[in-house]
Amino acid sequence: MSFKERLNRQITQRLPLKPARSRLTSPVASITFDDFPRSSWTRGGDILAAHNTKATYYVSGGFVGGMQDGREQFTESDLVEIVEAGHEIGCHTFSHEAGPTIGSDSLMDDVERNAAFVQDILGDYVLSSFAYPYGEASPRTKRLFGDRFPTSRGIAKGVNKGLMDLSQLKAIGVEHWWWTPEYIEAAVDRAKRENGWLILFTHDVSDDPSPYGATPRMLEHALGAIRRAGIDILPVKHALARTVFDEPLTP
Ligand SMILES: [Zn+2]
Repeated sequence: MSFKERLNRQITQRLPLKPARSRLTSPVASITFDDFPRSSWTRGGDILAAHNTKATYYVSGGFVGGMQDGREQFTESDLVEIVEAGHEIGCHTFSHEAGPTIGSDSLMDDVERNAAFVQDILGDYVLSSFAYPYGEASPRTKRLFGDRFPTSRGIAKGVNKGLMDLSQLKAIGVEHWWWTPEYIEAAVDRAKRENGWLILFTHDVSDDPSPYGATPRMLEHALGAIRRAGIDILPVKHALARTVFDEPLTP
């Protein structure tokens, strides 16, 4: 990574462009899946159901019915089932390009294309939560997506608390390439201690996951750790309502 890219990342992740103060008096957590590979629903969805948990699936419409890195991606009927099961669908752009490399008009066209894609399948469903493809953002794209969506989630590690940046919500990966149970447990402890909003993200859920995915055991472990800490798990839009507006919305 060049100096310019490092500087951009530092500024982007630290400069709050959409500040909001957390009003949480007890911690909350969100489970999120990006892109998304089909197994995050066919395997992940069963695990969520067993834990009576609703999650957020950030969809990139361009991946529908295809393969990415040898992994089957979501189908149109998966989207229907996910919403019927009470989970949230969020926006991850249609084309899944790194935002900072794309012009603003093209980026917004791509976001509207994703919204239209979802509405073709789900009717008047509104995508209100956003996640940056590859976690890549710049001050320009933070402002763009910050104006378009109530929240934008990145991949900068941390627990959201105090003065949060809604255009750069922090998150922690449940990703096979670096996962340790201790790291997840420490993040859960921190959310509990600081009345924070912990957002976890992953991709596929498989016995042989991609580096960015999770095994069923890893997902079970995260859900168990959160439940044992007595932390409510809510989709991102519901967690936002509780965190910022003190609104006890449930899915
Ligand atoms: Zn992605």
